[in-house]
Amino acid sequence: MQTIRQQIVEKISEEALNALELSKLLRIREKEVCEHLDHIRRSQSAKGRKLIVIPAMCLECGYEFESRGKPGKPGRCPRCRKEHIQDPRYRIVNY
Ligand SMILES: [Zn+2]
Repeated sequence: MQTIRQQIVEKISEEALNALELSKLLRIREKEVCEHLDHIRRSQSAKGRKLIVIPAMCLECGYEFESRGKPGKPGRCPRCRKEHIQDPRYRIVNY
């Protein structure tokens, strides 16, 4: 039996996913996904792996949010003020 964290690591080692997609796959709340991701981000480097955050992007004007390195989701676009945001996605890579 894998822990939730191991399952997240396995999923995002295969493909980049956002927190909502992970929450649906693992049947946990999005907020919990973000907490696990934050822990994964801090723990993976010791294993020669790294959690990559693919920045959120505004689907209205194409504004790319700065990767804050910390899992989470922006509310609205600072440029056009719309809330049509592609959530940041997460990926585990070996280095
Ligand atoms: Zn925008």
